[in-house]
Amino acid sequence: MPTARTNFYDLTRAQLLALAPQWGFPAVHAARLWAYVYLSGAEDWAAMPELPARFRARAGAELFFGRLAVAVEQKSSDGFTHKYLLELADRRQIETVLMRYTGRVTACISSQAGCAMGCVFCATGQMGFVRHLTPGEIVAQAMHVDAVLRGTESGAALARPHGRSPHERHERLRNIVLMGMGEPLHNYEAVMTAIDILRDATGLALGAKKITLSTVGVIPGIVRLADEARPVNLAVSLHGATQEERAALVPVAKKWPLDELMAACRYYIGKQGRRIFYEWTLIEGKNDSPANAHAVGRLLRGQLAQVNLIPLNPTAGYGGAPTGREAARHFQQILAEYGLPSTVRQRRGIDIAAGCGQLATGR
Ligand code: SAH
Ligand code: SF4
Repeated sequence: MPTARTNFYDLTRAQLLALAPQWGFPAVHAARLWAYVYLSGAEDWAAMPELPARFRARAGAELFFGRLAVAVEQKSSDGFTHKYLLELADRRQIETVLMRYTGRVTACISSQAGCAMGCVFCATGQMGFVRHLTPGEIVAQAMHVDAVLRGTESGAALARPHGRSPHERHERLRNIVLMGMGEPLHNYEAVMTAIDILRDATGLALGAKKITLSTVGVIPGIVRLADEARPVNLAVSLHGATQEERAALVPVAKKWPLDELMAACRYYIGKQGRRIFYEWTLIEGKNDSPANAHAVGRLLRGQLAQVNLIPLNPTAGYGGAPTGREAARHFQQILAEYGLPSTVRQRRGIDIAAGCGQLATGR
């Protein structure tokens, strides 16, 4: 019986290099294959002339390129945001967003189809959990955005991996935020394998400061990130500064209470020596008062932290309104009194439901 082929994008470089000797070839061929794929976007065995035909034939029999088909592409009227509805092999769907703000290119990628965490104001939470993504499905989203940037999204690039880098001729994908659909720390293993692949220095080579993972506050995952010294930026969704207020918006706070979450965050900062980005969705009349801002200030005072304020984006299942500009600025001023830097996230891509918490699919 023929064995199932492996998705190339599921493999770390070390795993790919280990396969070549098992097939009776030197690892150097696998290293060259890796470079072809990740530096030039090639997915066509015929477009890899530097690899021996026998190796290509064997690799082609063992591996496939699990690219994600674009079901729908939407462009925001802001001119900066593109959203892709991508189809997985089992016809489940996910969304990926390409953002070109402030002169840099960022991909917002999904870690799960749907989400099990049920945050009340989030469209992904409202749709419920469908399934975890594999490492290859996470990596393939980055490869899709990379292909869009190089203008080859529908076919294989022919550029050679050696000599002049093909990246010199087009914008490069430089930032990735794991802030799409799903809770990345609920799918820890696959997400970490994907990050290893995205960071590989002979591949996409994304820097440690260029990948940001946002969590709803999965405490065991935060502790593990710290213990394993994972090279990513950490963002933690807060939204409420007391256990009661937070649990009303983020139901899993009942399982992972605020005081324990704060202890885990302090542990992370101490161990990693890195700041944490706290996210706070600003909902008018709900969590945007001066008293709320003081509560955040008292909670985070003294931590190596930055607060990212996100005015609420509309979703079908939640009726709240976003905080206005003035109130957001006042909130920031109060945080500054506690020594906490903050930003207000720009509202982009709202017309195509590509903003924070707006990603959802029918299946
Ligand atoms: N699951 C992760 C990452 C995805 S959501 C997490 O929850 O952190 C990225 C950010 O958008 C989170 O801070 C989330 O709370 C926030 N968010 C969700 N729905 C939103 C909405 N409707 N408007 C604004 N921000 C929202
Ligand atoms: Fe899941 Fe994050 Fe949405 Fe909460 S905000 S439901 S954790 S994707």
